[in-house]
Amino acid sequence: MLYSLTLDGGRVGLDDAAIAGLRGRLRGSVILASDGDYDAARRVWNGNVDRRPALIVRSADAHDAAQAIDFARTHALLLSVRGGGHSAPGYGVNDGGMVLDLSLMRQITVDPARQIARVHGGALWLDLDAATQAHGLAVTGGTVSNTGVGGLTLGGGIGWLGGLHGATVDNLISAEVVTADGKLRRVSERQEPDLFWALRGGGGNFGVVTEFEFQLHPVGQVLGGMVLHPLDQARDALRFYRDFVPTLPDAAEAHAGLLAPEGTPMLALLMGYNGPIEEGERVFAPLRQFGTPSADLVRSMSYGERQVMLDEPNAVHGLQRYWRSAFTETLSDALIDEFIAAARSFSSPMNALLMFYVHGSICRRPPSATAFAARSPQWDIDAIGCWTDPAESETHIAWVRAMWSRFEPHLLGRVYANHITGDDSPEKVRASFGENHARLRRVKAAYDPGNLFRINSNITPADAA
Ligand SMILES: Cc1cc2nc3c(=O)[nH]c(=O)nc-3n(C[C@H](O)[C@H](O)[C@H](O)COP(=O)(O)OP(=O)(O)OC[C@H]3O[C@@H](n4cnc5c(N)ncnc54)[C@H](O)[C@@H]3O)c2cc1C
Repeated sequence: MLYSLTLDGGRVGLDDAAIAGLRGRLRGSVILASDGDYDAARRVWNGNVDRRPALIVRSADAHDAAQAIDFARTHALLLSVRGGGHSAPGYGVNDGGMVLDLSLMRQITVDPARQIARVHGGALWLDLDAATQAHGLAVTGGTVSNTGVGGLTLGGGIGWLGGLHGATVDNLISAEVVTADGKLRRVSERQEPDLFWALRGGGGNFGVVTEFEFQLHPVGQVLGGMVLHPLDQARDALRFYRDFVPTLPDAAEAHAGLLAPEGTPMLALLMGYNGPIEEGERVFAPLRQFGTPSADLVRSMSYGERQVMLDEPNAVHGLQRYWRSAFTETLSDALIDEFIAAARSFSSPMNALLMFYVHGSICRRPPSATAFAARSPQWDIDAIGCWTDPAESETHIAWVRAMWSRFEPHLLGRVYANHITGDDSPEKVRASFGENHARLRRVKAAYDPGNLFRINSNITPADAA
């Protein structure tokens, strides 16, 4: 097993009677190791995470979530909260403690007249995109459809609509959250504003969000797709891409990836335009016409189609993964050369090196506006090792680590909070919350002084004055 968590809570008084009592208070269910669905229920997106919780509580509603939180606190159980299960380090599961699994809580209500969606805490982006697109609406969401709305939103939320409509948290109007004391609270700019601020980027540190209320935007047919270049042309194409993207209007998104979908590594320039198709064609013409691409797959498509464009193999649960990440404000020539050298030596054809460009509306709010602090134009760099045979884990993890040590001198010492991994140093975790870290610690002390919610990119409570 790659990631290990220590059971520091212990199993205090966790006996059959206590579990029967919990079962009796829930509309949802409790799954134990002796149950037939235990193995499926404990699995998360990253197949390299193989942990065995003492119990899994599948909550049906906010009341159930509060019961589970009270139970975990009273019995001093290590608590993981599982939304879509996509966190690369596997924060949605632990060894020996409780998993609060929100997967039954996927209901969504859309008010098309007010352009608002109410979304339960365990919904996936594919649920929300389908419900909102039925009315020609959308909110900035993830680029892989089965990621959880919960985890992604609480960490900030970077996606294809970010340049135009901001990060996902910039569209959060209010949230219903159960805090560590088991209390259900409705928070917004007006109600408990400190907690609302912390939820918008501080991750799962402050409670379990049982409902999100989002502002939606009209989104119709969009431009999307990718232009592929053979690896021997990737150096020039990536340099052109780097110099081109600062000219993009808010409606345009352009990312890059070195991938080997058919076994041969290549460069993919990923493009999206959220406006009139002809306008997008004009904006992207220079990037699409650069060099001699092996394929140009950019075309008009529905928003829903673009939202699943990167699903293969990223949406597949159970593959083995290892992930490192950091931000950079410059794609230097030296870093581009390192990326290309790494792609030539991919340890697995499912590996990927991704460059997600953050710009536009996301960057027009000050870093202190929300807990999500990544408010300057920059690339979110991700090195992803992906393979099928657990016996090969050491080889592929060693490959990512070796590559990462070559990239790191060219990267910033901070990372998108949703991409912090167990390997990242405490300094990098702190730096990732930037100037907001001290305030986050104070809010944590007010709402979770015992650090019940600690299986995450953890913010420790501020020391008592
Ligand atoms: C393939 C892939 C693609 C991704 N693409 C993007 C992207 O395009 N944009 C982007 O911004 N991020 C992206 N991410 C990162 C993603 O946002 C994080 O991994 C996120 O934490 C996943 O949320 P989840 O609910 O699926 O995960 P989980 O593993 O279930 O949870 C992750 C964390 O969030 C907490 N959490 C989840 N739901 C709740 C809730 N309702 N209340 C309180 N805490 C909760 C959990 O306790 C845990 O700490 C991607 C990740 C993967 C694996």
